[in-house]
Amino acid sequence: MLILGSGPAGLSAAIYGARAGMNPIVVQGIQPGGQLTTTTEVENYPGFREVIQGPWLMQEMQAQAEHVGARMMYDHIASVDLSSRPFKLIGDGGTIYEGDTLVIATGAQAKWLGIESETLLRGKGVSACATCDGFFYRGKKVAVIGGGNTAVEEALYLTNHSQDVTLIHRRDSLRAEKILQDRLFAHPHIKVIWNHEVSRFIGGGQPEGLVAMELRDLNSGALQVIDVDGGFVAIGHQPATDIFKGHLALDNEGYMLVEPGRTMTNVPGVFACGDVADRIYRQAVTAAGTGCMAALDAERFLGHAG
Ligand code: FAD
Ligand code: NAP
Repeated sequence: MLILGSGPAGLSAAIYGARAGMNPIVVQGIQPGGQLTTTTEVENYPGFREVIQGPWLMQEMQAQAEHVGARMMYDHIASVDLSSRPFKLIGDGGTIYEGDTLVIATGAQAKWLGIESETLLRGKGVSACATCDGFFYRGKKVAVIGGGNTAVEEALYLTNHSQDVTLIHRRDSLRAEKILQDRLFAHPHIKVIWNHEVSRFIGGGQPEGLVAMELRDLNSGALQVIDVDGGFVAIGHQPATDIFKGHLALDNEGYMLVEPGRTMTNVPGVFACGDVADRIYRQAVTAAGTGCMAALDAERFLGHAG
């Protein structure tokens, strides 16, 4: 059994796959542990009364998977051959991994606004991960762009470092869950700018870094410039499916298409689970749940296919 990805979906599939005797190999990718390694507190994963840390949870999942016999490979997959069994995954360095069944759990990657100044200042004040980079903005002004759970959590997290946090959202209401919104609105160090988008990140200084953002009012078209040292883009994620284009059926947003309520892709023996196949829920617990389903589906497939 080959598993591609080591987030909650891939590692849950590995635990079930190992216990079912399918000798799983997990190719971890460049983000071992997946998206939860980029966050701090996780409060909604069942089983923990105390607040736990995302990186810790993922270390525990990996340790459990290894304990029951899953093997971890630190490699990134560049291409695939799913035309016949065994399926083949080809790593960046040319290593070929083969499996009689394949579970795809490649999750999702942060989306960017796509404006030129963002590309120029990425890593110089513009980031997509507050928990990774927030520390660099101690005592400075920061802004978060977005209105979902990630944006609100990032804004709240940044108050650990900064007393001047601005959330910029393109509409006049957030899509984040209510408990997070309540915390955001109650926080004395966070203000919200509604109905605005970032039209330009402005660099300055030597070495160059972000010094301001130009914002456009989406109702009036008026522009304003706000001083800011750190800009955190938190506008969602896109499924990591580039390597499967032309090999597997994807939907119009690039998510893996699976049978409704199941994990089967359009290639028998290839299963998909977690965020890569989920445009709706995208939670650690749902990723873990569908990882379990994929392993059970793979077990049934191997039982029938021999
Ligand atoms: P991911 O976690 O995205 O893992 C994908 C894996 O695939 C990675 O290991 C990556 O290295 C690997 N991979 C990708 N492409 C390749 C390739 N070509 N070759 C090899 N490997 C590859 N959910 C909650 O339930 N509670 C929370 O509190 C919460 N907080 C969050 C905070 C943040 C900042 C973010 C971004 C998300 C948060 N989520 C939370 C959502 C949760 O992290 C995801 O739903 C979950 O991680 C999805 O798991 P996954 O296994 O499907 O994919
Ligand atoms: P999301 O829910 O898709 O929200 C993305 C936000 O960015 C939306 O508010 C959207 O605006 C905005 N946006 C999108 N494109 C934009 C653009 N080009 N310019 C400006 N704004 C833009 O993404 P997410 O917040 O990353 O969450 C992803 C998933 O992970 C969700 O299912 C979420 O529940 C989960 N998650 C859970 C937790 C938790 O449980 N604590 C924490 C983090 C993430 P609109 O609102 O106008 O569309």
